[in-house]
Amino acid sequence: MPAVMWFRRDLRLSDNPALLEAAARDGEVLPLFVVDPALWGPSGPSRRHYLGESLKDLDRRIGLVVRTGDPVTEVVRAAREAGADQVHVAADYGPYGSARDEKVDAALADHDIELVRTGSPYAVAPGRVTKGDGTPYQVYTPFFRAWQEHGWRDPAGDLGEVGWLTADSDGVPAEDLPDGLDLPDAGEEAAQRRWRDYRRDKLEAYDRERDRPDLDATSHMSVHLKWGEIHPRTLLKDLEGMRGKGAQTYRQELAWREFYADVLFHRPDSARDYLKPEFARMDYDVPGDQLAAWREGRTGFPIVDAGMRQLRATGWMHNRVRMIVASFLVKDLHVEWQHGARHFLHWLVDGDLASNQHGWQWTAGCGTDAAPYFRVFNPVTQGKKFDPDGAYIRRWVPELRDAADPHEPVDPIVDHAEERVEALARYERIRR
Ligand SMILES: Cc1cc2nc3c(=O)[nH]c(=O)nc-3n(C[C@H](O)[C@H](O)[C@H](O)COP(=O)(O)OP(=O)(O)OC[C@H]3O[C@@H](n4cnc5c(N)ncnc54)[C@H](O)[C@@H]3O)c2cc1C
Repeated sequence: MPAVMWFRRDLRLSDNPALLEAAARDGEVLPLFVVDPALWGPSGPSRRHYLGESLKDLDRRIGLVVRTGDPVTEVVRAAREAGADQVHVAADYGPYGSARDEKVDAALADHDIELVRTGSPYAVAPGRVTKGDGTPYQVYTPFFRAWQEHGWRDPAGDLGEVGWLTADSDGVPAEDLPDGLDLPDAGEEAAQRRWRDYRRDKLEAYDRERDRPDLDATSHMSVHLKWGEIHPRTLLKDLEGMRGKGAQTYRQELAWREFYADVLFHRPDSARDYLKPEFARMDYDVPGDQLAAWREGRTGFPIVDAGMRQLRATGWMHNRVRMIVASFLVKDLHVEWQHGARHFLHWLVDGDLASNQHGWQWTAGCGTDAAPYFRVFNPVTQGKKFDPDGAYIRRWVPELRDAADPHEPVDPIVDHAEERVEALARYERIRR
């Protein structure tokens, strides 16, 4: 009997264990993608457009069947039309995705169709790495050690001949890009090409240069990982046997992605609420004009404005700058992290619930960071340290292109020294 391959965050044909399973019996597979309004609606133009491009890539190669609507209805309908008795997926461990899959599982079972979960978007599935007593890790470093020790499978084998089935399709959804937004190429081949070039040209210097937003020294793989155009296991396999510090540091960064997925799996409430609940008692300001200035890159702090404008122009922001702008919103403007996280998820092309919400919570001091809240980033010294010549600032804040000192704030909306003291005073009040 034919099977359905329901693609979600695994938009690739190679190293795809769920797809291999789908093709394993008689090789006839209906390739399905469901545009779920619950996910499509809240996404911003960058992620929608990128997803559309990635789906077009799969469609060109295998003739994707796209349906729009509630997956509980659409997956059952597509499976029944194809006469399939199995629907194959990579397991989803996020709060929305896992609940959705349970409902789809039950709806399929009513028609004697099985939902088969194989693999996940991670090298090690969330929930697998635990402390000796079976409880989850709260802190990254011991998680990383245990994750390395646990290990992961080799990439899956090649996909043989597949008889791709076809059916009525609503077509790949179109989303126009707003003016001034320029996104990277989407699709499996683009992901492989970028990884190959990065490994060849830049990986060796990754540990030394990854904190420098002026150098473009990071891999930009986040968007490809987000949509599963390449699997982290493929990257880890290529890193195997590479002895340099660049490869080791890169492995550690991939482990942050796995750690945050694990934290979210154990604490699904942390997608919205404080991981450390006492932070809900802190005094915060009601967001107003200052939040708007932050969003639009008009705070007067050059590195903050550069980052916020890079986000709007490219759907991406350098990791160091993500930390600087997040710290600024929470500790200089005293705005709750959720407002910033929402703005990021709207514009980031790599927007990912686990990495984003926990990147925010870490920087805000209410997440998994073992260091205390009173580390407050100074946006000017951070800028001088990580963008020493101001090239990053000059690129994204054109009015400072010819400034003698591009790091010097211009009409700043707050006084950083005063707000630092204020942030610490607010923190003291919740510690008592
Ligand atoms: C406030 C904030 C919000 C963030 N939001 C997201 C998000 O929505 N989606 C997202 O993928 N990453 C997010 N990150 C993590 C990180 O900034 C990006 O993964 C990274 O900048 C992507 O660029 P790159 O692929 O060139 O990274 P590289 O430096 O080349 O890193 C390689 C890969 O490792 C992983 N990685 C690296 N750093 C982190 C990290 N701190 N946390 C989790 N994974 C990491 C990513 O998958 C990345 O692609 C956030 C960080 C912060 C501080």
